Amino acid sequence: MIPVERLKESEKLASLGRMLSGAAHEINNPLTGVVGNLDILLRSRDIEGPVRERLERVQKEAHRIIALVRNLLKVAHRDTGKRTRVDLHHALREAVALRQHDFSAAGLELRLEASPLPLRLQGNEQELQQVFLNILNNAYDALKEGAREPVLTVRTALEDDQAVVIFEDGGPGLKDPKKVFDHFYTTKEIGKGTGLGLSITHAIVQSHRGRITAENRAEGGARFKLWFPLTTGESAASLAALPPQNRPQAVSLTAAILVVEDEPAILELQLAILGSTGATTVGVPTGSEAVALLERRDFDLIVSDVKLPGGVSGEDLFRWIEKHRPTLLRRVLFVTGDSASESTRAFLEKSGARCLMKPFSVEDYVTVVREAFDALRSAA
Ligand code: ADP
Repeated sequence: MIPVERLKESEKLASLGRMLSGAAHEINNPLTGVVGNLDILLRSRDIEGPVRERLERVQKEAHRIIALVRNLLKVAHRDTGKRTRVDLHHALREAVALRQHDFSAAGLELRLEASPLPLRLQGNEQELQQVFLNILNNAYDALKEGAREPVLTVRTALEDDQAVVIFEDGGPGLKDPKKVFDHFYTTKEIGKGTGLGLSITHAIVQSHRGRITAENRAEGGARFKLWFPLTTGESAASLAALPPQNRPQAVSLTAAILVVEDEPAILELQLAILGSTGATTVGVPTGSEAVALLERRDFDLIVSDVKLPGGVSGEDLFRWIEKHRPTLLRRVLFVTGDSASESTRAFLEKSGARCLMKPFSVEDYVTVVREAFDALRSAA
């Protein structure tokens, strides 16, 4: 289930992502010129003394811009890392090992209390390490700033079929917990913070279908809590082990699926993806054609666009099913574009139907369809 807040958030991120991506590419061209020319100048032995020193300083600053632009692009492209089966404890231990020495050298304690249960999920190990490192780095900065108790404790647990990671520090706490995931929000001095670390963290967690919260602890200090859905069963495990282009074939669906989509290219794409899973598909471009079909027969799943032309929208279709074929209501999955309006959001929230955002990757699509079937099976 995708709650509406997550939908809103992913819409916000999608448009911000496009903006950041465009801006970063625009900056990269002149930046390449700046850095390239500086490199050429600095190779010359004729440049020496204070001029060389100043140019080297410019070069250092230019490299800071490069790192910043790279981070912007990471925010923009949230779902680029290759997915495999990841041992969450391994990723966490690696991140902790990278900072353990710095913590000790600064007189700070970094404790890892890992659950004895193995926690494995489908994801990208490097991205997960980056998530953990960003939180560790912030806690290190906060604890150095002034600590009630100079300790960062990292705990893991299994909670309702989800992997949970909790970071609790004894530092000064978050000045504004609601803002920490905002892009460019930083309380660090100029040159030290970019305010992008936690927004990247948030984006990566979301792309792993996880959740992250930030709050202050009653006893003082900050708490970051992360939830990740775990890999369940062997089908998911083998799915993760396959190269992405082969993944759809790995999910075998002996189901009849109705797809309602007015964009011919997107309808065709969905039918191709579903066809490769073994499902039998029927595609129609309007809500009224879907209604006509549903009057005659059942489907195991109905995947519908929210905005449909010709008088019967996805919402109308849903209401029709509710009235005339209520047993199929749980079998509706919506696909919606970036431009979902407030009323669409309100409808989706009320409907409780699963929803997938456009643009979607093949992997996203198969995963959501598979989750829909898993939920139906466990409810049966
Ligand atoms: P940056 O580290 O560049 O400032 P982040 O997005 O990583 O950017 O963090 C945003 C802000 O969140 C920090 O500037 C800080 O104010 C706050 N923050 C994050 N973690 C902690 C923490 N453990 N304790 C106190 N404040 C924190």
